[in-house]
Order: sequence, then C-alpha cells, then structure tokens
Amino acid sequence: MTKHRHPEKIKKPYNPIKKKPVWIRSKIIDTQTFFQTKAVVNQNNLKTVCQEANCPNITECWSKKHATFMIMGDTCTRGCAFCDVKTGKPGELDPFEHIKISKAVKELNLNHVVITSVDRDDLDDGGAKHFKNVVLETKKQNPNTTIEVLTPDFLRKGDSYKKVLEANPDVFNHNIETVPSLYLTVRPGSRYFGSIKLLESVKNIKPNMFTKSGIMVGLGENKNEIIQVMDDLRTANVDFLTIGQYLQPSPKHHPLQRYYHPEEFKDLKNIALNKGFLLVASSPLTRSSYHADEDFKKLKVKRDEQLECQQLQ
Ligand code: SF4
Repeated sequence: MTKHRHPEKIKKPYNPIKKKPVWIRSKIIDTQTFFQTKAVVNQNNLKTVCQEANCPNITECWSKKHATFMIMGDTCTRGCAFCDVKTGKPGELDPFEHIKISKAVKELNLNHVVITSVDRDDLDDGGAKHFKNVVLETKKQNPNTTIEVLTPDFLRKGDSYKKVLEANPDVFNHNIETVPSLYLTVRPGSRYFGSIKLLESVKNIKPNMFTKSGIMVGLGENKNEIIQVMDDLRTANVDFLTIGQYLQPSPKHHPLQRYYHPEEFKDLKNIALNKGFLLVASSPLTRSSYHADEDFKKLKVKRDEQLECQQLQ
C-alpha cells in the first residue's frame, strides 16, 4: 500500500484546482546547468524544498545552480493546509548533514545559499542546534558564501532559536505565510504573534542581521489584512518582505480563492515600500528563496544608502 504524503488531509474536503492564468508560467531553462544542480543534490543525498514543495520556479532556479536545501529530513511534524512537504513522524537527524551541505555548496560554487528545514516539533530544541551546526560548517568550508536561513517558528521551544543566531547567518528569514484571521485553517499548528515575536527578537538580538519574511496571497485574505501584516512586520523591524501567489498543491489542500493580477502585486509592493521595508519582492511567482542571491546584494546596497541618508541628517 502506498503511504499517503499528507495523512492529516485524507478527510479534508475535495477542492478542485482552479486553472492557472497566463501569467503563471515557469521560465525557460538552461538544461545542462539544471542537470548539474540535480546531480550535486542527488550525489550528496540531500533534500531541497524546491522538489519537496513542488516549487514552480525549479527549472529557472536550478538553471542558475540556485537550490534551497531542506535539512532535518523530508517529513514535517506540522500539517499546514497550504504546504506540499510530506507530513508525519520524521526519522533521526543525519549526523553528517552539515558535511554534505557544505560539500554541495562548494561543488555548486554558490555566492549565497538558502538553508531551510521542516518543522521538528518532536525535538527538544526544534532542531536549532542541528541548524547551527549546518550553518557553521557551511561557513567554515565556504568562507565567501553568504548564508540565509529560513527557519521554523521554534514554537514552545523557549530560547532555542538563539542557537541558530550563534552561527551568525547573514539573513534570518521566517515566513509569516498568511494573515492572522486565516491561521486556524491555513497554519493551525502555528501562532501569528509567535512568528512576529520571533522576528522581533532576532532583530533585537542581532540588529545588523537582515530579517526577512513572506506571505502568500490568494488564500482568502483581504487587502486591509495584508496591510495589517505589513505593519506588524515593520513593528518587528523586518527588512525584507516577499509576496507571492498561493498555488494549491492538490484538491485536498486549502482551496485557492483567487489569482491576483500582476498589477495587484505591483500595488502591494508600493504599499509595502512606503511602509519602510528596505526591499520588497512581489510577483505571482515570488517565493521566499526566489532570486535570494541577487536580492541579498540589493539589500546590502539599500542598507548602505539608508545609513548614508541617516548620516546626512
Ligand atoms: S524559488 Fe526557492 S524553492 Fe522555488 S525553486 Fe527557487 S530556490 Fe527552490
């Protein structure tokens, strides 16, 4: 018998997937580089969120060697209604994962790498120590590579997130994902203000570390609620906001309410920039790790400009 990827969704209602509009199209690929990236991922026996979450950008990103590594296994202990990553009881942590990731980063010769993970509520520290070790080893073996972590919320794990900060990643990313009114249906295992608090605490502890968060639209939120999330993230001094279209992975996932037009993404971007984010990426195919390399360079430029302005005042 085949094991179900999402056992918690078996009894969920069947919601047919809406046809994609013309503007949601994956980009053309450089086939050779795509397969080189795939070979490095497979040979090192690694997991990527690009594959596990069935990301629409995989052809474009892997054609630029940009893969987002997913550590601590391929099985998540939460059951978010939007996510395609497998859920269930995860296995043991791989004690050699830090070596495998740092080797893959070297083989891909990356300037910037995004490292994310599944939620590991089964571990006392939510996997924070493992995260730290992976980042430290990757830095040690790749001193010129900048590192972005995209972490779980470490809910009910006390101060364990501070262990990740001890590794000094260049960017700390934690996605807020949706508006508070949808948390109970879309992200039932998480708490909106827990995620805001995490981002705020990171900034308080490491004021020079870039913080980043992202939301999906099309889940049933309204514009005022999105604007409220922007304000809450700015209150937490988040630097970089990503906004992308939710794509429903299967009929058992949270129903897609509507596709936003590219012009609506531009409008949201302008609103967010006016709220004071250093950088905003907002488009139908924006994902939190999409173009992370180029965006990191832009973030640094924006911060330098901001510092110059402050000195002139
Ligand atoms: S957007 Fe992120 S998750 Fe999607 S393919 Fe690119 S790197 Fe992978």
